Amino acid sequence: MTFVVQEACVKCKYGDCVDVCPVTCFFETETQLVINPDECIDCNACVPACPVDAIVSEDEATQDYIDINANFDYDDEDKRRESKDDVTHGPSWDAAKA
Ligand code: SF4
Ligand code: SF4
Repeated sequence: MTFVVQEACVKCKYGDCVDVCPVTCFFETETQLVINPDECIDCNACVPACPVDAIVSEDEATQDYIDINANFDYDDEDKRRESKDDVTHGPSWDAAKA
């Protein structure tokens, strides 16, 4: 099993999840963050950290978002994010939730 970033992350990308992940397995797409399922250790730390509840376990996720997370090009190390400060916020970013 892994964890999956779903629709609530689209266009917001707060990045709180990035700061708590012990294995740095979040990558940034144009519209959202995604979790590399081959690196995620299922620690659950990111789930309560997300202010919009965008992250769920794979068995609770919808197939389209399982595919979006699984099919990202994880060889593109430039898209790996190690800090929320490195995440480009989306147009719906709300300072009150950050
Ligand atoms: S914490 Fe932010 S960046 Fe991470 S999944 Fe939630 S909305 Fe997306
Ligand atoms: S469950 Fe843990 S290892 Fe997996 S993405 Fe979230 S914080 Fe990272």
